[in-house]
Amino acid sequence: MAKTKIAVTIGAASKTKEVVRAMALSGATIFRINFSHGSPEEWGEVVDIVREVEKELGKYFALIGDLRGPSVRLGDLEDPINIKAGEEIKLVLAPESCKSEKLIPLPNPVAFKALRKGHVILMDDGRAAFRVESVSASEIVLKALTDAHITSRKTIVIQGSGLDMPAISDQEVKAIKFAVENGFDYIGLSYVRGEEDISMLRGIFLSLGAERTSIIAKIETPIAVKRLREIVATADAVLVARGDLGMHFPLEEIPELQRKITSLCVEYGKPVIVATQLLGSMIENPVPTRSELVDVVSALTEGVDALMLTGETAVGKYPVEAVKWLSKIIERYEPTITLPKRGIKPENHIADRFAAGIVSMAESLNAVIAVYTRSGKTAERIASFKPTCRVISASHDEVTLRKLALIRGIETLKVSAQSYEEGLEELERKVREAHDIPENSIVILTYGMRGEPVHIVKIVQLRKSED
Ligand code: PGA
Ligand code: MN
Repeated sequence: MAKTKIAVTIGAASKTKEVVRAMALSGATIFRINFSHGSPEEWGEVVDIVREVEKELGKYFALIGDLRGPSVRLGDLEDPINIKAGEEIKLVLAPESCKSEKLIPLPNPVAFKALRKGHVILMDDGRAAFRVESVSASEIVLKALTDAHITSRKTIVIQGSGLDMPAISDQEVKAIKFAVENGFDYIGLSYVRGEEDISMLRGIFLSLGAERTSIIAKIETPIAVKRLREIVATADAVLVARGDLGMHFPLEEIPELQRKITSLCVEYGKPVIVATQLLGSMIENPVPTRSELVDVVSALTEGVDALMLTGETAVGKYPVEAVKWLSKIIERYEPTITLPKRGIKPENHIADRFAAGIVSMAESLNAVIAVYTRSGKTAERIASFKPTCRVISASHDEVTLRKLALIRGIETLKVSAQSYEEGLEELERKVREAHDIPENSIVILTYGMRGEPVHIVKIVQLRKSED
């Protein structure tokens, strides 16, 4: 049974019920919308589709909404501009430009003023590059270092400028409200710079009565890498945004950055997702390259919770095939991989040490862990030790089950009981009835440590014929 989860980004290539259903049937359990594109009406349609498919298939899916974050985007162009390497083009401070002018509009005064001669500007995950040749108050002359196709609202990266922009603009607050009203499970905080950005978003959640919405810190820039430890400690989950990392850092640093981020997340017991260009060639082709398959296996060996497809499913020609390829590789290689273990120290929280003990007992008995969890915390703690055994997490709360759909190794199960005692009893009944747990299997049942004087860990060996 596959443990590593698959996340897909929904876009023009995948926003129909047929494609969402096919991706779910092929193994996707996490669906992402990028709030930088589209309108609330379009996002709403995707939410409805994902939740309908979830119901239809009797599963639980995590829904992620990505905020734009303090990124710099071009304004609106009437027509795309094509430019050849070596040619010059002007950038102006304006919300839009028209065809006849051949100017690139930049509606962001902070970014416009920050540009200096010699700065390099990147677009399209670094495929297009420009250098600033000269700067005046009204216009900036750029020289194309590559051929480039410039379209409206493209994100641009100014290498090394470190712009001071608000983490969450007024426009973003609307997206956050939309996400909260529509039951999104996770919000992706793009271009996170430090703990204060995460606290600010938490404050907004609190004011909206949405304490349970989780925050995914997207590590995309040098400042986030510099302050990695504090970000990992504060966020609910972390995403290795290889697309942006590759524009802000020399490309050859990507493998070590990925390893640094994933290993710190394992150490802190935080869920971690690796994103972008896992199967990039599948945007155009039905079959991945050899090296992409090796990259996927390499991410699996780091113990990631989820692999995220971006362009492959948002705009690619083969979104369903891309998910199938991830599933195929996960199923084949996961059982062969020994993961780095999260060490447990005396100073760790007692609930973490309890979870570590459950995992070590389950592994030595070759048992299944069955946990009744209300908030999902106990299940997450158990999963953070990357158990090799199965972990069935039951809850009455669908919000909990959806959140857990993102976590490595967790199988979600709905129960109706709402107290710990009854929840555990119902879970035991369901485990005994389960067709996919072989006779004589040992099952360790628990609901974690509850602050009561007695803590329950029940070990049963299934004797189905005698029941
Ligand atoms: P994005 O983030 O797709 O929202 O840009 C992922 C990345 O930068 O890799
Ligand atoms: Mn990004």
